[in-house]
Amino acid sequence: MDFKGQVAMITGGARGIGRSIAAQLAKQGADLVIADVSEETAGEASRELADLGVRTMAVRLDVSRSEEVSKAFEAVMKEWGRLDILVNNAGITKDGLVLRMKEEDWDAVININLKGVFLCSKEAVKVMVKQKYGRIVNIASVVAFMGNPGQVNYSASKAGIVGLTKTVAREYASRGVTVNAVAPGFISTAMTDALAENVRQEMLKSIPVGAFGTVDDVANAVCFLAAREAGYITGQVVHVNGGMYM
Ligand code: NAP
Repeated sequence: MDFKGQVAMITGGARGIGRSIAAQLAKQGADLVIADVSEETAGEASRELADLGVRTMAVRLDVSRSEEVSKAFEAVMKEWGRLDILVNNAGITKDGLVLRMKEEDWDAVININLKGVFLCSKEAVKVMVKQKYGRIVNIASVVAFMGNPGQVNYSASKAGIVGLTKTVAREYASRGVTVNAVAPGFISTAMTDALAENVRQEMLKSIPVGAFGTVDDVANAVCFLAAREAGYITGQVVHVNGGMYM
């Protein structure tokens, strides 16, 4: 893959899976916009990723707030005048069984995970349609397909992303803009590392390849879909889950 001369914006790009996606894109030449809710961590990530030899900029935004999203995209266009790749990665969890889930926890997860993807995609599409080129990759989850007790808000938000992906893909396919999703399974992060050993072993039994995924496994799939060469793939979900859902 060669992303030289292309600008990629990664929401929630300061850490975790988003940070790995940013690094992989940069290693293949993409200039980076690290868009994150914390100005400090976005700035830190942006400075560190510049060591990979690409241009980087940090923008602070809460993806669920339309004014902040608009301003962030304006800043990118003012600075670099184009946007080729948007990775909608920012996401949160606020778990609880449906009977105990607070309305505010439902709203927070839907607003950041789903409305955030809508708001950022809307801004990106405006730019990409003018350029007659763009790649949008949305980060969903295996729980959109399997459900998961305690994650009614999260699984609904991720299932919503799948519908949104297919619709925006259909709307802009003829304008050079592809829209796809990556659905990770259990990925080794600080969250899974903190699990008790017996819980980890139980989870591993449900994964045919017998291991948790890595952030790079997700980033590789994102890079594939973000490439110019993937132009005939749109409205699809790539599952990165070691076979736990087929
Ligand atoms: P993470 O480590 O918590 O990182 C998420 C990033 O998003 C953080 O930098 C966070 O900033 C930022 N963020 C949170 N709320 C935001 C907002 N309103 N606006 C902008 N940025 C915001 O999460 P992750 O594990 O890397 O997950 C990344 C994506 O993959 C998420 O969409 C998640 O649902 C999905 N996913 C993860 C797994 C997994 O096993 N980890 C599995 C399936 C899907 P702060 O840290 O400052 O809050």
